[in-house]
Amino acid sequence: MNVDIATMSLVVSVSSILHAIILVFLFFLVDRYRGVFIYTIGTILSALTFFFYLIRWFYPEFLILRFLGNVIIVMARIFYFIGIARFVQKDEYYVFWSLVIFLSILSQAYFTYIDSSFVFRNLELLTAIIITQILSILYLTSNKKESFTTSAYFTAFILLLDTVSLSFRAIVLPFSGIKHLFHPNMVNTITFFSVLIADQLRNSGFIMMVIQRLQGDLKAQANIDFLTKTFNRRAIQEQLSNEELKYYKMGKTFSVVLLDIDRFKSINDNYGHDGGDIVLKHLSEVLKQNLRKRDILGRWGGEEFIVILPDTPIDRALIVAERLRKSVESNPAANGLIQHTISLGVATFMQHGKTMEKLIKNVDTALYQAKKTGRNKVIKAIEIEVNPNPDRNHRA
Ligand code: GH3
Ligand code: MG
Ligand code: MG
Repeated sequence: MNVDIATMSLVVSVSSILHAIILVFLFFLVDRYRGVFIYTIGTILSALTFFFYLIRWFYPEFLILRFLGNVIIVMARIFYFIGIARFVQKDEYYVFWSLVIFLSILSQAYFTYIDSSFVFRNLELLTAIIITQILSILYLTSNKKESFTTSAYFTAFILLLDTVSLSFRAIVLPFSGIKHLFHPNMVNTITFFSVLIADQLRNSGFIMMVIQRLQGDLKAQANIDFLTKTFNRRAIQEQLSNEELKYYKMGKTFSVVLLDIDRFKSINDNYGHDGGDIVLKHLSEVLKQNLRKRDILGRWGGEEFIVILPDTPIDRALIVAERLRKSVESNPAANGLIQHTISLGVATFMQHGKTMEKLIKNVDTALYQAKKTGRNKVIKAIEIEVNPNPDRNHRA
């Protein structure tokens, strides 16, 4: 294939500038994540280097630019790495990279002015880039549970292909007879093509990571109650549907606990609305501490909470509810100042309600019974099939 390398370098240059523009724009749109800024600086540096090469091509006497161009390429790649590291909240290794930049400056200067060697300048450059990329790949593939995992893996895959291509260049370069970057040669053609494609896809991958994370965060915000940081009612309803589906698909029994703070009005009256809020926050912490990881806690409304207990039959659910009641009773809020208790209703899907509406209605009735019969207690919902007589099943 006979491709004009100079034209290709112009294409790579323009494409780098376009990436830089998009990333600068992205940075202003989404400046909430660490790493986006540094990564953007990387793309600007990258765009700059190709300018350097172009200028050098037109004015070959500016040897200083050749030296700088390579150092800036290394810096751009280091900035990509630091951007990625910050984004995934891992170590940036500033000291190490400062050393790499320092050594790059020394060796690029040496192989430019003292012992001019295109191959050695390139090998230094390639080694530094390959190190940044391998470390980036490791960081990107070690975030298994983040919202942006898919795009992180995509980015890592692109970096891997790029690393393979650059390693190929490093291996064949000493034998290729290439004397300068614009030497029309297969190795140079392959490098330019892969740089063009890899740059495009890596930057797209990073942008996708930002977008995916944003989407994950917004989704979390839409599902979380601001005050108590538990699920809100909308999210709970979704979770209830999930559990219902699991019941029909896999026969997994689940229970729900509906609970309400006793005489909360008087807490608000005595300690003010802020005092009431402190109790709500404290209560949700105490509840969380007494639940398994897979149990789902949500704020059903005002001072009423709901717990979904997956895979839990009624006997077990009653034990959990009683544990919650005791813990709340023995854990006053505001450093032991505001004593409060809760009343709880407990029901199991099918056994106490064959549809979600009926289950919720029956657990609400149980909670109401707990209130009516003295508060600070657990009441089981009425069995709907075993015994339809409410009076016989109904115990405190
Ligand atoms: P009971 O034992 O029968 O449940 O008595 P109660 O006083 O808790 O009953 P009620 O449900 O009538 O009162 C709930 C109060 O909770 C009324 C409302 O002002 C208060 N409330 C609802 N949401 C919030 C909130 O976000 N913060 C605060 N501080 N109070 C809230
Ligand atoms: Mg109440
Ligand atoms: Mg209430």
